[in-house]
Amino acid sequence: MKSSDTKIAFIGLGLMGVPMAKNLLKAGYQIVGFDLSKEVAAKFSDDKGFQFASTPEQAIEGANITILMLPDSSIIDAVLWGSNGPAGIASKLSKNSYLIDMSSSSPISSKENNHQLERLGIKFIDAPVSGGVKKAIDGSLAIIVGGKKEHFNELQPLLECMGKSIVHVGDAGAAHAVKALNNYVSAAGLIAASEALNAANKFGLDPHIVNKVFNASTGRNNTTENKVENFMLNDAFNSGFSLALMRKDVQIALSFIENMNCYANLAKQCVLTAKEADEKLGKGADHTAMYDYVRSRAL
Ligand code: NAD
Repeated sequence: MKSSDTKIAFIGLGLMGVPMAKNLLKAGYQIVGFDLSKEVAAKFSDDKGFQFASTPEQAIEGANITILMLPDSSIIDAVLWGSNGPAGIASKLSKNSYLIDMSSSSPISSKENNHQLERLGIKFIDAPVSGGVKKAIDGSLAIIVGGKKEHFNELQPLLECMGKSIVHVGDAGAAHAVKALNNYVSAAGLIAASEALNAANKFGLDPHIVNKVFNASTGRNNTTENKVENFMLNDAFNSGFSLALMRKDVQIALSFIENMNCYANLAKQCVLTAKEADEKLGKGADHTAMYDYVRSRAL
């Protein structure tokens, strides 16, 4: 599939969607984008090959590939199938076109969406990403892919415009399962590091030195290596990944683990902590503000 012959509809142009779409434009793809927020159109004013649509239906007209980069599965289901109003875009997608859900969605919903889309003659893959806004900008995201191997093979060159490590993990929904489990493990590391550094600080220790020790020892994780100094101990709390999205991800992971009938004690605690922090810190809080929340709490 050559970039010059491919028209992409890109729905969901937020913190991640904008830089991902820009990397596709750089590779020569034509994009018609749609987002509920009309202001995002201005972010593409210097980009050739981009048009902003006034409805999702307009964005998908004639598209060979539709990419979704939306907050969660309830929004994706409303966009695809409609909610309370006219039906969504699914029945209007071109036959034999691809729908790629790059959001961090529920694996159970994605399996069902794949099933329903197949009946409409649409090819589905789930392709959630890891790496955050910085890696979205420089095109080095890790992309996990679920769906038929032949679909993966055909779409790999397009995915390589946005990511460096592209791994096919199984059938439709498999990538969303792996993504949710990854984000659960990551959130557990964030909460553990926040609690440990807060207690160390109260004991009179320098949290910068403690974190250095973690990074040279077995407590090292993505939070201690990349978040503590850049976003947490300096009170910046601006990594670009919201606490609300982290809460959603750990909830997806917990539901998945429970659905598999597996032990999930720590996942339950992570969901509870993420819920409490999200409610206390309010809309717009970054996930690294978990440290701020932990600091504000007594035993
Ligand atoms: P975001 O909130 O910045 O962007 C979501 C965009 O979707 C917004 O611009 C919003 O206006 C738009 N939107 C919401 N409902 C819509 C609808 N019905 N129709 C059209 N547009 C709609 O979120 P983000 O940080 O870009 O994350 C997007 C997805 O990627 C989420 O599933 C998230 O979990 C995942 N993700 C985020 C990061 C990160 O670091 N931010 C990293 C990896 C994965």
